[in-house]
Amino acid sequence: MSGEDRPDGHTDGGTEQTPEAGGPTDGTDGSRFAPADRVASVAPSGIREFFEVAETRDDVISLGVGEPDFTAPWPARSAAVNSLERGRTSYTANRGTEELRRAIAERVTRYDQTYDPAEEILVTTGASEAVDLAFRAFVNPGDTVALPTPTYVSYEPGVRFAGGEPLPVHTRHEDDWALTTEALYDAGVDEADVLVLCYPNNPTGATMDASEMDAVADFCREHDLLVVADEIYAALTYDGDHESVATRPGMRERTVVINGFSKAYAMTGLRLGYAMGPPDAVDAMTKIHQYTMLSAPTTAQHAALAALDRCDDDVDRMRREYDRRRRYVVSRLRELGLPVAEPGGAFYAFPRVADVAPDGDARAFATDLLEAEGVAAVPGTAFGTGGEGHIRISYATGLDDLKEAMARLERFLS
Ligand code: PMP
Repeated sequence: MSGEDRPDGHTDGGTEQTPEAGGPTDGTDGSRFAPADRVASVAPSGIREFFEVAETRDDVISLGVGEPDFTAPWPARSAAVNSLERGRTSYTANRGTEELRRAIAERVTRYDQTYDPAEEILVTTGASEAVDLAFRAFVNPGDTVALPTPTYVSYEPGVRFAGGEPLPVHTRHEDDWALTTEALYDAGVDEADVLVLCYPNNPTGATMDASEMDAVADFCREHDLLVVADEIYAALTYDGDHESVATRPGMRERTVVINGFSKAYAMTGLRLGYAMGPPDAVDAMTKIHQYTMLSAPTTAQHAALAALDRCDDDVDRMRREYDRRRRYVVSRLRELGLPVAEPGGAFYAFPRVADVAPDGDARAFATDLLEAEGVAAVPGTAFGTGGEGHIRISYATGLDDLKEAMARLERFLS
């Protein structure tokens, strides 16, 4: 690609590598590629690995995927179609369209967040890109990044790809998976550089109430931590308002907030998210983004603008349906004797199966459940240390399937 092709004038310098240029030769099948050490050091996703087995059968009810079972609301889809019909197929500004950034700034005021659309918001290719950018922009080699566990599967690899050292911080079923100051001290987070917060949480569904969030914010200020707050499930809370760490005194300047359209708007395939923070933080992330991504998908940006403008009712309808399923799943699990903390947000329940699993092993439990009854759930070990003895059940699955899955689970347990 030449510099003329790119709106920001970036050129790639023509330094393309060829296999003949030398390098590792220990790949298989004559390939001369061997993964770089930081890539080799990361294990494949425990979720994928498990679902490859599930995909070989056609009677499986999957409670495994972290993806809405709804289709994106029509106003968002029609805006995407319309943008294509009107020929809007070019790059946008690196940071995303001004209109969309303004709409995002307006939207997040409902969480008491105020960000300047010109300087403090970056539209990204999914929240995933924003997470990756945050790690690459602020983690130096050897920096410690604290990850409350069980944890969303992408953080640890992301930290390693950025050259950082992940530090697990164990949250506990007994605390409803909330992050406590005690857990932060126990893990040595007072010596860490960055803390990742994901509330509402994947995989536990935990939310943090105002006083729990205050305590975490106090800790971060006291120990001078940067915070990456992944708030992608902010719109999916059931028992109270979303609490953002960035709204606590002295936290805005040390926090990057990440959000996106995949979950609340059922727009996973459109790949659109955003990062918000003080101007120098957003500048640093934009620097990486402008060279690696240029701009987030244009069609999806048009869809996202319509989502913010015209889809509140759809989001509310989906949220109410998740809530209905949440109540059903939690009460059924408890009836079956599986302890589960009440999930306050997202669309996951994280019951303990240790007491009924072979040797307390959730992985064996999940494998047996899949084989015997065709119900796929993810073993808690896929989410790092702390998830042992648990499974993740996603209720982003229709109520009929959930009912059938619970009936099969009951048969399996008896
Ligand atoms: N963060 C969390 C906590 C998630 O659960 C997910 C999706 N599973 C993502 C980020 C990625 O979202 P996106 O589709 O916007 O990249």
